[in-house]
Amino acid sequence: MSTARIALVTGSTSGIGLGIAERLAAAGCHVTLNGIADAATVAALERRLADRGAASVAYDGADMRDGAAVRALVAGVIARHGGLDILVNNAGIQHVAPVEEFPVDKWNDIIAINLSSAFHASAAAIPAMKRASSGRIIMMASAHALAASPFKAAYVAAKHGIAGLTKTIALELAEHGITCNAICPGYVLTPLVERQIPDTARARGISEEAVKRDVLLAAQPTREFVSIEQVASLALYLCQPEASQITGAMLSIDGGWTAK
Ligand code: NAD
Repeated sequence: MSTARIALVTGSTSGIGLGIAERLAAAGCHVTLNGIADAATVAALERRLADRGAASVAYDGADMRDGAAVRALVAGVIARHGGLDILVNNAGIQHVAPVEEFPVDKWNDIIAINLSSAFHASAAAIPAMKRASSGRIIMMASAHALAASPFKAAYVAAKHGIAGLTKTIALELAEHGITCNAICPGYVLTPLVERQIPDTARARGISEEAVKRDVLLAAQPTREFVSIEQVASLALYLCQPEASQITGAMLSIDGGWTAK
């Protein structure tokens, strides 16, 4: 039987999730991808991960807004491989608007995708991890799990919720060989951030260049974006045996943002 570890990364057709999936592939894992993508994109991503060295690559387009679909996604991985060693709850979206104008459908989608999907996926994964007496649950939180910014009510609420969920799961699983941690990146230039630049410009009445300089990088004392590779390296570290005593942690990787 193969000893390759079995990994699932939600929201891994783009950005940070894809970066983590690529690194897990290079580490020889069985990788299941998830996210919104057309068939040609999925086929190209599957080939890319196979070339990187994945033991196997699968894709499941489960909608993270649908709790039953999230649970079925996890059940499918366990049925295919007989277990789940690494769960990365990464899928996320953003919407930028003042609270009083915040569209209710956007609020509901952000809470479902950025918070509730992590609850459903973790709940579905934990019994198999308990049977194996080992596992890694990684939440892709944000600096916004620790501090707020205006016009991001749903995102900040969801990410603060993820912080609580992470700590609770860590405590419940502490004696089962399973760790649960949250990575809290500052700004990473992914499609999620690029899409919010025009909305932030509108909400604040400033130019898009000014958003990058005076809003995004102003939050980070280093004045530099965090890279996808840096976040993926931290996630991979959490999967190593050396990280077995790191659990319930909020791990900032934010250029000093939350030190202020
Ligand atoms: P991204 O837009 O590049 O990727 C988001 C992924 O989630 C994509 O694969 C997308 O298809 C998927 N997704 C979106 N809605 C979905 C749905 N309903 N069902 C299934 N999949 C869905 O964004 P990213 O920046 O890589 O964000 C990944 C995570 O990192 C998010 O949780 C985000 O909050 C977090 N994060 C990002 C930054 C940043 O600056 N980019 C900073 C801190 C935290």
